[in-house]
Amino acid sequence: MGSHISLTRMDDMKITRDYCPDCKKRSYFFNFYQEWYGWHSTCLRCGRQYADGEWIHLEFSRFARKQNIESARRCWRERQDEIKPQYRQ
Ligand SMILES: [Zn+2]
Repeated sequence: MGSHISLTRMDDMKITRDYCPDCKKRSYFFNFYQEWYGWHSTCLRCGRQYADGEWIHLEFSRFARKQNIESARRCWRERQDEIKPQYRQ
């Protein structure tokens, strides 16, 4: 049995509320977990992304933050079914 590792595979995801060091406010975070990579979080207020608590370099684009927020929201909406079945059994 081989294991296929893909950047888009997610093992778990959740929404948390925490302090964001970038926008300096309490915010909601979209988090997903990947084996090998750990937790990846996106601040839904400013779009800053974190990997296991470390800042991720932000793409030098004026739309980068907005795109991060949009893709986080899309993931949460579209991929919940992908995660949940593991926990239902
Ligand atoms: Zn933020």
